[in-house]
Amino acid sequence: MNKIFFLGECMVELRAIDDDTMKQSFAGDVYNSAVYLQRCFPTVTTGMVTALGRDALSEKMIQRFRKASLDTTFVFQHPEKVPGLYLIKTDALGERSFTYWRNDSAARQLMGFFNDDIADLFNAGEYLFISGISLAVIAPSDRDAFWRFLDKLKSRGVNIVFDPNYRARLWDSPEQAKLAFEQAFTLADIALPGVEDLEVLFNISDAEAVIDFCTPFKLQEIVVKNGPDSVLTYANNSLLKHPIRPVSNVIDTTSAGDAFNGVYLGARIEKRSIVDAVQLAACAAGTVIQHPGAIAPEEPFRTAMTAVGI
Ligand code: AMP
Repeated sequence: MNKIFFLGECMVELRAIDDDTMKQSFAGDVYNSAVYLQRCFPTVTTGMVTALGRDALSEKMIQRFRKASLDTTFVFQHPEKVPGLYLIKTDALGERSFTYWRNDSAARQLMGFFNDDIADLFNAGEYLFISGISLAVIAPSDRDAFWRFLDKLKSRGVNIVFDPNYRARLWDSPEQAKLAFEQAFTLADIALPGVEDLEVLFNISDAEAVIDFCTPFKLQEIVVKNGPDSVLTYANNSLLKHPIRPVSNVIDTTSAGDAFNGVYLGARIEKRSIVDAVQLAACAAGTVIQHPGAIAPEEPFRTAMTAVGI
């Protein structure tokens, strides 16, 4: 079953062009991954699981999902809430700063749309991706229900994929994040951690130590991202170190990990080897960081991926 769903939050992005002008787009870790997966592997059904509002920007976001050929079966619309929003400003030295309005976003109400039967709509062999950001966005009072939902999916044979993606400001405390991450690692079949994500919370500072941290959990596949250094994978008792060709013309590293995740998962769902999947994912990530913003323009992205056989 070539089907994967990305659960979390997509936000309205405003980018300040000058003092009077803002460019508006949409972004969010799970959405970014879904877009890049779908661009490279259009035969994989790729969907979003999220909650938006009924306002004009929510409607525009749904149109954007559809334009990117994303399945919207599990895109819910809250009667009162609206999507989260963030503003990117770049100062005279090129340093970017982000301001977020997401504490009361519609996505925080996602579990309110999950009735008892929703897990029954997922089938064995399908994939559900969650990130540390998805977990942080789910209201703390809803988390027990969320774990029960994941348990049910797992018992139905759905593959759970987890990228810890740690954003300290989204959590009440580091301890709360640690507990949630341990629970997610326990339930996951595939993990795609970055070294930085586990550094603060678990005091782990290199890729090998991330593998050591992950191996006691019952993961089938562990993929450790470590910027331009390398990617380490561990699966079927085999530890592989994959070289990454560093990009010299780095413009904006936003969503490098997201592009990597989407393309890696698409490649694995399409039965490519781990070695091939890492190389395709690294090419996607290396291309995305040569463009500003989370979603690289389609044409140069496609050109780069065509060059590596996609
Ligand atoms: P990170 O989240 O920083 O670990 O980056 C995710 C992925 O983006 C890495 O696994 C690499 O494939 C790619 N990447 C990040 N930085 C660079 C870089 N400077 N040059 C080439 N690839 C990179």
